[in-house]
Amino acid sequence: MDFNDTPTDAEYRATARAWLAANATEYRDPPATPHTRAEMVAASRAWQKKKHAAGYTGITWPKAMGGQGLSPMHSIIFNQEQSKYHAPSELFAIGLGMCIPTVFTHGSPALVDRYVAPALAGDEVWCQLFSEPSAGSDLAGIRTKAVKDGDDWVIDGQKVWTTNAHLSDFGIIVTRTDPSAPKHKGLTMFVVDMHAPGVEARPLKQMSGGSDFNEVFFTGVRVSDSHRVGAVGEGWKVSLTRLMNERLAVGGKPGHAPGYRDLMALAADIETEFGLAIEARDVRQRIAATYIADEGIKLTQMRALSALSKGEAPGPEQSISKVVVAKTMQEMAAFAMDLSEAAGFVTGGTEPRLAKLQGSYMASAGLRIAGGTDEILRNIIAERVLGLPGDMRPDKDTPFNEIRAA
Ligand SMILES: Cc1cc2nc3c(=O)[nH]c(=O)nc-3n(C[C@H](O)[C@H](O)[C@H](O)COP(=O)(O)OP(=O)(O)OC[C@H]3O[C@@H](n4cnc5c(N)ncnc54)[C@H](O)[C@@H]3O)c2cc1C
Repeated sequence: MDFNDTPTDAEYRATARAWLAANATEYRDPPATPHTRAEMVAASRAWQKKKHAAGYTGITWPKAMGGQGLSPMHSIIFNQEQSKYHAPSELFAIGLGMCIPTVFTHGSPALVDRYVAPALAGDEVWCQLFSEPSAGSDLAGIRTKAVKDGDDWVIDGQKVWTTNAHLSDFGIIVTRTDPSAPKHKGLTMFVVDMHAPGVEARPLKQMSGGSDFNEVFFTGVRVSDSHRVGAVGEGWKVSLTRLMNERLAVGGKPGHAPGYRDLMALAADIETEFGLAIEARDVRQRIAATYIADEGIKLTQMRALSALSKGEAPGPEQSISKVVVAKTMQEMAAFAMDLSEAAGFVTGGTEPRLAKLQGSYMASAGLRIAGGTDEILRNIIAERVLGLPGDMRPDKDTPFNEIRAA
């Protein structure tokens, strides 16, 4: 692949760069103290609205739907430039990266008309309601049911690990509508109003002290059939769109994530009884290993970009990136914590560089699970990249109501 921009891409990059320099200044440096949840929500909303007004949201989406009608390369260029700033996009990442593309691809024109534009404008926040206490990696094992009642469906059950459910206005939910069909076949997806009677989001407390995700209980929640996404019983197929978008969204290294430069800067400042940490051979080896992994991730990402630039869909190589990104982030952050000795575990400190590494340390374990665990991604790489024999799936064709609960 030619890594240089085409003249048109270079022009777009220069315009985006100038706009970001003028508008993202306040987000350029990490805050002296980490944002509180309320500050993150307010900053995310403000940033989304600012980008929307300037034409930097929905870059690849049709103009008729509030997008910009540009190519995936334009979107990648903007994201590359944006990642140089402290741009708070967390609140909208799931909605715009995963939920809205699913509604967009499989929803009725009325659903697309109603939901896409407000999400792009930063007016409505979305969550994805897939995982359950007994269904995570084995997503097709979900038990939340939806039963038809007139023009409505009635939803009962429980979801878990739902990021931002307590802050969301809407969610996409996958439900079981035909328990007598094999597990992948009796599923149907809906758009659900998170403020509807019978929806209760209970935030879960994390080790960082924050509460990013939730248990969500559904008790007799009514959803109109007009809010079905895709055909009845086709929820698995619809979920695959969402999974592909999720792997694309989480496959790369997060722009704000620390890298080998952060480790180098830290090691250059830390005095040990034998001199500066950066002068120690084992520390230098760890920095070099982080650099090699970062470069490998960058080049694997380039392969995906290369596919996108030729109008092809990125393949299972995204799984490779995600496995390496999450593992490298966790090992690098753990090493940084070790280097910082006692200071490494003082969370919420006023030292922005340490706050960034501490945040990464605590988030990286979750990254090895979210969007497909390391083991599931390795199965995908084994089967779809290396062509090895498939994982055992003994209950694939068994009617769901004949599968014994774990
Ligand atoms: C930070 C974070 C955010 C999340 N946000 C959301 C969200 O917004 N919405 C949502 O729906 N879910 C969300 N999740 C849930 C996430 O999708 C699941 O945690 C994930 O799919 C794993 O499922 P599980 O936790 O049930 O683990 P399990 O599937 O029970 O897995 C337990 C262990 O068994 C291993 N394992 C399972 N099956 C196999 C196999 N076939 N071969 C080899 N090993 C296997 C797994 O790798 C894992 O180590 C989030 C999770 C995290 C950590």
